[in-house]
Amino acid sequence: MRQLIAGNWKMNGTSASLAEIESVCEMVAARPPGCEVLICPPATLIAQAAGKAKGRIAIGGQNCHSEISGAFTGDISAEMLKDAGASAVIVGHSERRQYHGETDAIVGAKAKAAWRAGLTAIVCIGETEQQRMEGHALNTCGRQVNDSVPDGATAATTVVAYEPVWAIGTGRTPTISEIAEVHDHIRACLTKRFGTAGNSIRILYGGSMKPANAAEILAIGNVGGGLIGGASLKALDFAAIFNASSRNS
Ligand code: PEP
Repeated sequence: MRQLIAGNWKMNGTSASLAEIESVCEMVAARPPGCEVLICPPATLIAQAAGKAKGRIAIGGQNCHSEISGAFTGDISAEMLKDAGASAVIVGHSERRQYHGETDAIVGAKAKAAWRAGLTAIVCIGETEQQRMEGHALNTCGRQVNDSVPDGATAATTVVAYEPVWAIGTGRTPTISEIAEVHDHIRACLTKRFGTAGNSIRILYGGSMKPANAAEILAIGNVGGGLIGGASLKALDFAAIFNASSRNS
């Protein structure tokens, strides 16, 4: 499968920011990258973003509720995201786990909701700095994979994003060998659980990926792409990252 380069705009962007999506689409049309490109803007912009993208890049949500509809004020279902033009949704981002108390069980239910609606679920996992310092990075990620990725996951329905919590938005990244070690471990967990299907589920790296480090990170074995926060907000930075992806995962 081709690598996937996904932008997570978080709570940034108004309609004026759609110009960045138009620029990304123009760059993709002028020089098609070797990877798939996805932008997850705030939910308020998904429909307009999908209209601008015209299928040249994919558009996704940043979160969904596990139910189809109901008395859940302020929430958005996976079906609503699909209806607005999304083809994927991020679930279990560490900011959702930290600020909204999302457990692995809740994240797993959201991933299943994404599948139900026909969306690809991008399931985020990753250790805190303390867990890494205490030598628990691998077992934390393994446990999160086992508990947040539902039974029946395939490469067509599911992407795992390894995002060390301490690397998100900090400018700090693990070393290349640390990233490789965790991705290899996640691959082993996926293969053990899902057999051959687990071999091809893409595992993205996320956490302070930027134009300066993208090529080196994207060249690591078992890195199936990137999930990019801050550097996805500007079309030129984001394009420098997706143009650094040159191989199948
Ligand atoms: C993210 O929030 O998913 C992320 C990786 O952020 P940043 O690239 O800004 O570290």
